[in-house]
Parts: sequence; C-alpha cells; structure tokens
Amino acid sequence: MSRFWSPVVHGLTPYVPGEQPKLGNLVKLNTNENPYPPSLRVLEAIRAEAVDTLRLYPDPNSDRLKQAIADYHGVERANVFVGNGSDEVLAHAFGALFKHDLPILFPDITYSFYPVYCGLYDVAYTEVPLAADFQICVDDYMRPNGGIVFPNPNAPTGCAVALGEIERLLVANPDSVVLIDEAYVDFGAESAVALIQRYPQLLVTHTLSKSRSLAGLRVGYAIGSAELIEGLERVKDSFNSYPLDKLAQAGGTAAMQDRTWFDATCRKIIASRDKLVSKLQALGFEVLPSAANFVLIRHPQYDGAELTAKLRERSIIVRHFRKPVRIAPFMRVTIGTDVQCAALVGALTDILQQTV
Ligand SMILES: *Cc1c(COP(=O)(O)O)cnc(C)c1O
Repeated sequence: MSRFWSPVVHGLTPYVPGEQPKLGNLVKLNTNENPYPPSLRVLEAIRAEAVDTLRLYPDPNSDRLKQAIADYHGVERANVFVGNGSDEVLAHAFGALFKHDLPILFPDITYSFYPVYCGLYDVAYTEVPLAADFQICVDDYMRPNGGIVFPNPNAPTGCAVALGEIERLLVANPDSVVLIDEAYVDFGAESAVALIQRYPQLLVTHTLSKSRSLAGLRVGYAIGSAELIEGLERVKDSFNSYPLDKLAQAGGTAAMQDRTWFDATCRKIIASRDKLVSKLQALGFEVLPSAANFVLIRHPQYDGAELTAKLRERSIIVRHFRKPVRIAPFMRVTIGTDVQCAALVGALTDILQQTV
C-alpha cells in the first residue's frame, strides 16, 4: 500500500502467471507452452528485422500481419485486430465491449485473468458454475447479461463446447458481445471464426503463444465484425499506438503463413496427448476429456497439491490451483514431447508406488 497510488490500484487483485523457473534441466509442464521450437521461417523473418531499421517505429496497424491472419482464416483485414499477446487483446475487449449496466457472465472455473480485467476496468461479473462433469452448458448463459466470455476449449479443464452449441447461444443472445477465447482451439476444438459473418456480436480471440510456439514473442489477435474491431482499435489507439514491435510483426506473419509446420506440430501434440491420457488412466488417474495441449487430472487417493510437490522434487513442474475448491484435487499438466510425457509417467509411477 502506498499513499501515492491512485485509489483504483488499492483495489486491484493482479493475475499471477505460472512460474518461469530460472533453473535449467526441468521438465516444464506448467504454463501450456509448446515443447517444439517455432517454425524456422519465423526465426529467419525475425533475424531479417534485427537490422538498422529498428531505429524506426513499426507499422502501427500491423497491416502485413493482419493480412496473413485474414488469409489464414478466410476473412477480411477489417475483421482482424492484433495485440501484444491475446491477454492484451482480451484486456481491450473488456474495456471496449464489456462495460455496460448488466454484469458479464463467465464460468466459475475458467481463465483466472477474466476477473482481473473486471477489477481493472470496473466491469461487474457473475460466475456461472460448470456442470457436475466440469462442462460448460450454454443454456446457463441464456439470461440477461452485459457480455459473455469463456475459452473454448475451457482452461484449465480442457473441455470443449461444440460449435452448434455456441451458435445456439449466439441466436439466443443477439444484444451483447459473446467472446470465445480460442487460445487452445488448434489442439482439437471447433473454431467459431466461421460464424463471425452471421453474428456481429461474436468476437473470437487467438494467440500465437501455444499452437505456434511463440509465447516469447507476444502476439495475439481477435476476429469479429468490423464494428467490434473498430471498437477495439479505438481503445488501442487511446492506449499504445505500437503494441507489436517489428520483430513480433515479422515473426507473427511468417508463423501464420507456415501451415506445414503448424499442421505437423499440432498433430504431434494431439498424438502425445492421446498416448499420455491412456497411461495416466492406467495409473488410476481421472482425466477430464481434453481438446487442448494440457490435461486436468486427479488421482482418487492423492491430493493435487501433494503430487505437484512430489513431482517438483523430481524436477517436473506442473500447475496446481488451490482455488476454486472444486479443482483443488486436480493438477494441470501441459502436453510435452513424448520424452517429457514419459518422464512424467515414470515419476508418477514411482511416487504412487512409494506412498502405498
Ligand atoms: C494462454 C492463454 C491466453 C493468453 O495468451 P497470450 O500469451 O497472452 O497470447 C489467453 N487465454 C487463455 C485461456 C490462455 O490460456
């Protein structure tokens, strides 16, 4: 606390990101990064920008990057907004589109940045409980609201909502923004981008952090009607004209263009996930059905916090959430390479044998 802080700062509860350990030699499965290096075309594009023209400001509109994103999704450039990571895109969406009279709705178990943005922008919210099987039930969102947001697949459960259900929600909810956060969609869920032409209230966000191995570059984007995108641009241009530097714009553009790398990498992670799920089930774990690059798991006899600590002693880092209490028995495990997954299974086998 400081007397120099603006009053709003006293009331903030900031987001706490997963740990980025400074030690090497860890099996790092705690923040849903991609275990594979980015496309070589991305690295070449970034190197080509690391030259004397860095003295100049970057393109404030990131037009080439927006065009590459538009081409990938088959939409117009006017349907694309880009930001410094999708977290920044989400922040602008909360500020630009969610501050109305009624509370916005999001699941009680979801990405914990949503309530943080509500605190920052003074947006009222109501948490909608997930069903008993941890699924999002769209009927629960069909009530008066100032906006709706959830990830699809949801985080940290990994569970996906079918596209038909999202469309049913859009039909029932024409008058407030529905934001679908597709940070993990490339690992097995159906994208709602195809619906933006028909539903002007739909905004879909994506990130290059997970499926394109670029968490360190900070590139995210939103796709939606030109009307929603213009609202976001107005907020962005009132905040920071240059959120994406030259390296991020060049690398992001190359990443969107390299479909061969992208398809092959997503396929590898999905195959590793399927193998890991059967091994975990064989060890007695309950595994929530995942369409993401992580799984939420619990063992009937062991506490999530205890197992997380024991894995850490073996240099394997996974994520445990103390809150909400319904997910406290679980651990969230990022899908690594097959070698990393095998290390995890080996360590868990060892831990479970020692504690019986
Ligand atoms: C990782 C993640 C993001 C943010 O990604 P950026 O790295 O900021 O692009 C957004 N939403 C969810 C649900 C995520 O898990």
